[in-house]
Amino acid sequence: MKAGIVGGLIAVGIAVTAGSVALSGSVTRPPLAFQGNNWAIVQWVDWKDVDPMCRELGVVTQPGQQIQACTKGRLIIRPNPCPLSGYSANLDCHELGHINGHTHG
Ligand SMILES: [Zn+2]
Repeated sequence: MKAGIVGGLIAVGIAVTAGSVALSGSVTRPPLAFQGNNWAIVQWVDWKDVDPMCRELGVVTQPGQQIQACTKGRLIIRPNPCPLSGYSANLDCHELGHINGHTHG
């Protein structure tokens, strides 16, 4: 993974049902030290565009994993939540952690 680029939450599957999309997979929260208030620039995109856009920024995953959001500097790329169901605050907390300097591994 390139410096300054951190992958977002990763799921193994996306279920599409009758006009709504439920993102699945576990979402990890960063340690408390990385959960403080902060600010970012957010780009909301179609959920299926998140993975290729994040990969274009340099996010690398294990084979078969789906990127659901990512952070580069103060930019967060994430799915437009409006057509989604089961959308979790864990996603925000995860990416906030990256804005606050948390890295995977
Ligand atoms: Zn992450």
